[in-house]
Amino acid sequence: MEITEIKNWLSEVEHPAKADKNLVELGMIENIEVAENKISVTLGFAKHRDPLAEYLIGSAKAAIIRNAPAGTEVEVKSIVKEAAPAKKKPGLDLGFEEVANVKHIIGIASGKGGVGKSTVAVNMAVALARLGFKVGLADADVYGPSVPKMTASEGQMPDAIQEGEKEVIMPFEKYGVKWMSIGYFAKPEQALIWRGPMACNALKQMILQVRWGELDFLLIDMPPGTGDIHISLVHDIPMEGAVIVSTPQDVALADVEKGVNMFRNESVNKPIFGLVENMAWFTPEEHPEEKYYIFGKGGALKMAEKYNIPLLGQIPIVQSIREGGDCGEPAALSSRPDGLAFVALAEKLAATL
Ligand code: ADP
Repeated sequence: MEITEIKNWLSEVEHPAKADKNLVELGMIENIEVAENKISVTLGFAKHRDPLAEYLIGSAKAAIIRNAPAGTEVEVKSIVKEAAPAKKKPGLDLGFEEVANVKHIIGIASGKGGVGKSTVAVNMAVALARLGFKVGLADADVYGPSVPKMTASEGQMPDAIQEGEKEVIMPFEKYGVKWMSIGYFAKPEQALIWRGPMACNALKQMILQVRWGELDFLLIDMPPGTGDIHISLVHDIPMEGAVIVSTPQDVALADVEKGVNMFRNESVNKPIFGLVENMAWFTPEEHPEEKYYIFGKGGALKMAEKYNIPLLGQIPIVQSIREGGDCGEPAALSSRPDGLAFVALAEKLAATL
């Protein structure tokens, strides 16, 4: 493996905040070392706490892994190229100042993907705003961020402002909600194949470095499943508790148990405010009174009773909910039955807290 070859791979990584110039063009490659089976790259950043640092490190690593022979060990480090000798630490020392005026930080979780966790999170945020609450949503789903699409804000590049030593990221505001998404920092076709700790740091930055201001609710759309990222998110963010989304299907409910066990595990130990049963039944748009229980019936209620968690609400499968997600106008903005179902859900959550 030649250094020029590795540089070529690194030139695939564009800096989303710098007119899409790549790492090589921007002179960010400080050092490349190649040993027998190992590539080690050092990226230079102009300042501390660059909001995109973790994203760029992750993308650089991914670009090398994609191109290098299988089995090559890849390491990407960073240094800060500041004039003044800096007391640089590799970890992140973000405080909780930006979320200090947020009353409730709630994780929206699911045992498995595809149950509609993001749909519920986005619509719940819009519905809470409709009820007059101040709301923010941080889309931390590294595996498939959906906020950009669901709010028609793809390609949005959040502004960052410098405040002395510190840089803060401004959320995007629409439908009365402040939005931030890990998706704003990556192109849709760029798979976010970050390893655990990298993903955790990027998510931490994306939540704790954002100017949320005063909020009643900050919802965190968590990645699906249960794993290290979840545990570390709950540890690193002052999350109050969680809401779990499931479908009535047995396989989804089995995974809910894993979610419940994770939040109730001694090391996490956060309350579960409720279970939301999504896709509870199918209702044809033109016959809202008809219900077809295509994924089974009553499962979520049983699960809620078994674990002593309130069933916060049931959301039917309705074509307009899917369409609202696809066109960036969440169903919760409407006064159709599906929109009102989300408003009822939001009311119940607010009352629970
Ligand atoms: P997750 O975040 O759990 O992976 P999504 O929210 O992305 O799931 O939803 C998966 C798909 O199902 C999306 O296409 C979404 O529009 C659709 N969907 C989710 N909930 C509903 C619903 N209640 N009615 C109709 N379609 C839905």
